Amino acid sequence: MKIHAAIARSANDDFSIEEVDLNDPLDGQVRVKINACGICRSDLSALEGKETIQYPVVLGHEAAGTIAAVGKGVKHLKEGDSVVLSWTPACGTCPSCSRGKVHLCSGINMTTQGKGPLSQGGKGLDRFMGLGAFAEYVVVPEAMAIPIETKLQAHHACLIGCGVTTGFGAAVNTAAIRWGETVAVLGCGGVGLAAIQGARIAGAERIFAVDPIKERRQIALSVGATDALIPDDITQKIIAATSGGVDCAIECVGNTATMQDCFSMIRQGGRAVVVGLPAYTDLLSIPAIMLLAEKTLTGSIYGSTNPKVDFQKIASMGESGILQFEPLVDKTMAFSDINQGFQEMQEGRVARVVLTF
Ligand SMILES: [Zn+2]
Ligand SMILES: [Zn+2]
Repeated sequence: MKIHAAIARSANDDFSIEEVDLNDPLDGQVRVKINACGICRSDLSALEGKETIQYPVVLGHEAAGTIAAVGKGVKHLKEGDSVVLSWTPACGTCPSCSRGKVHLCSGINMTTQGKGPLSQGGKGLDRFMGLGAFAEYVVVPEAMAIPIETKLQAHHACLIGCGVTTGFGAAVNTAAIRWGETVAVLGCGGVGLAAIQGARIAGAERIFAVDPIKERRQIALSVGATDALIPDDITQKIIAATSGGVDCAIECVGNTATMQDCFSMIRQGGRAVVVGLPAYTDLLSIPAIMLLAEKTLTGSIYGSTNPKVDFQKIASMGESGILQFEPLVDKTMAFSDINQGFQEMQEGRVARVVLTF
């Protein structure tokens, strides 16, 4: 079928919304009508040419939608079901999936190398993270469309597809924050604000939110941070305020200098968790001697969650208000305003712009 998708033809280019061809769902695939798609920092990073993708590309990987058609053999979805898209293919057979860690599925790829159901003029279009959800419809394997029952509106539910799950999960799963702990979250965009809420829900006693932008620090305080600080001399400030360092620091910027700060500001035996997406070529250096203080440095992808199980739980927490979605979305815009949305995200004044269809 013919649909409209936002195509980026080269790095740092504007999107143009164009007519493209979308194949019908094959066996085990579903067609999803996109209702809302957030602009995630990883989309920005991809557009800025920092990630391994091919142009032309359709970005967008944080989406909520409705099942519009199902291919043969689809077992768990039917037309009309509400879904949130997941960017893990959860293949079920790779070593990670076999161990129950579907967030580490070896099928996760930023690029589809132009293969798959989307094309224009007979040429395949790349779909970022296997989704390419800045489009009216996507066709994906059944495992990438997670059914959820929720009263959350689409412009909130879509955040479960990336930002909220990534941040919340990094705090409660990867960092496994325990009650009474001290936590620092560096970077208070959509992911950082979700990490702060994860820390609050896990029972952290003190949560330092670190961000250069005043508005973001204010939102951080409103969703559970106890202290809000600017990044200048942040390691010294945090160490002084906690008598030796926080139990856990979570990096939500994707910057190697901030990652070093995280590692330096944790106490002996503390955990530093990197969530932000660095450029593909970035290298990180840390003082090796600090490892002997039994400090842990780890990354976190997709909040170490299992979307099939956890998306519904996260939606339910959003519905009950334990996990606040409203403060995470600064703006909703029409799909046709995608370039303006990216510009506002790039300027950094907003945590999240969500496009609605
Ligand atoms: Zn994302
Ligand atoms: Zn797998």
